[in-house]
Amino acid sequence: MLRPEPETEEPRKCQGPRDEGVSLDPADWAAYRAQAHRALDEALDFIENVRDRPVWQPVPERVRENLSCPLPREGSPVETVRQELEQFILPHATGNIHPRFFGWVHGCGQPGGVVAEMYAAAMNSNCGGRDHGAIYVERQVISWCKELFGFPEKSSGLLLSGTSMANLVALGVARHGADGAARKQGVTSGLVAYTSTEAHESISKAMEILGIGRANLRKIPVRCDFTMNVESLRDSIAKDRAAGKVPFCVVGSAGTVNTGAIDDLEALARLCAEERLWFHVDGAFGSLCAMSDTLRPRLRGIDLADSIGFDFHKWAHVQYDAGCVLVRDGKLHSDAYRSRPAYLHGLSRGLGAGSEWPCDLGPELSRGFRALKVWFALKEHGVAKLGRLIERNCEQAQYLAAEIQKQPQMELLAPVPLNIVCFRVVHPGLGESELNALNQALVEDVQESGLAAPSSTTIAGKLGFRANITNHRTRFGDLDILVQAVVSAANKRADRGAGVSPA
Ligand SMILES: *Cc1c(COP(=O)(O)O)cnc(C)c1O
Repeated sequence: MLRPEPETEEPRKCQGPRDEGVSLDPADWAAYRAQAHRALDEALDFIENVRDRPVWQPVPERVRENLSCPLPREGSPVETVRQELEQFILPHATGNIHPRFFGWVHGCGQPGGVVAEMYAAAMNSNCGGRDHGAIYVERQVISWCKELFGFPEKSSGLLLSGTSMANLVALGVARHGADGAARKQGVTSGLVAYTSTEAHESISKAMEILGIGRANLRKIPVRCDFTMNVESLRDSIAKDRAAGKVPFCVVGSAGTVNTGAIDDLEALARLCAEERLWFHVDGAFGSLCAMSDTLRPRLRGIDLADSIGFDFHKWAHVQYDAGCVLVRDGKLHSDAYRSRPAYLHGLSRGLGAGSEWPCDLGPELSRGFRALKVWFALKEHGVAKLGRLIERNCEQAQYLAAEIQKQPQMELLAPVPLNIVCFRVVHPGLGESELNALNQALVEDVQESGLAAPSSTTIAGKLGFRANITNHRTRFGDLDILVQAVVSAANKRADRGAGVSPA
């Protein structure tokens, strides 16, 4: 559409004597620009040289001190602030950009995220709604997600801080579908939901926050491969119905946080269709297997879900934070959240136009431009490459599992279906509780060594190491270093003659 030229004949000078020094913009843009260029170089150096640093090190006392000073009354030159940041903050990152960070499920980001975030900061768009470019970027990203998961065009989606929020938003839509009065009256209808004992804690939290209560989330037992036992689920639903409860939702996991197990999504979808229940998939990291032709078949049935929650910041390597919810019934999604007071009434033209705004699809009004870094990563790398990196992480997990099985003093704690390897050190003569204490101490030793950062978990009462590989920087040799770090920590403790005594 052609737009009229602005009607100013020549640029008017707006600044008068009363405006002196009131803006936060620099007085000297050239000097500021030089500082900003320095900052960009430092940021990229930080990523480029990550391999030369320890994975993690404790935050030193002088840093803690620096970070507990009083509220600054006066400002400082940007150069001073930047140097302080580089001295006290930058060296103490979590460590997840390092190739040997294996803790929890952390993504490691990539340089493109730095660039995209810089532009997003310059635009500083508020993505709650209205008619501007950022809204179209988010719609583009959501439409790519629909394509990825085989969701219909009429479905809807929203970028959020992560899968915890995505699970909450999805369960909120499910609640609205089952109990249309809940938005106004609260929940009084006896709703119950189902997930497995291996499900992520965010599902329980969502039940709490939505006023349904965590006691009304049934934790269905898992099979020996850690996937939900669908027959137990069926029994549990029948029992609840007989007791006058109102089953409304089943949450399946595509990649559990403990072991990477993927529930039988197709069987769950079928059962949900029979029982007329909402089927939500927590696919925080595992659902990204949809990017790989070889791994996609493991997700069979995910396209039948009513909603999916997943993260770009884990296995798609987008910088934190970037999660997403997709909802098959787009109308129900906005019915569940839309609430527009007078100051948010849409207009038919102008900046206030657009019929559906992101704020109609979730709890947030003001929102940052998360979509830009996702758009940038998908454009720069493409799903084929991201998919290959996911495959490689799974191959690396198999390699690590094989290496562990070669070690006489180690054992696997769970099958390795995806990218997570749970194992522990064993020691003849130690009982289970001593072994748990030993392994916890060893996880701490390895983290503090700076060589690698695995985390810990407990599987069937056995505490051990948990190595999650969602990292495009990890090389096979990094896994050898992890195994060596565990062996050497174990030997050190054995030399000291005590399994468990602290260092
Ligand atoms: C990480 C994770 C979550 C929570 O996602 P956040 O992005 O941390 O909010 C939920 N479910 C699973 C399976 C996860 O791995």
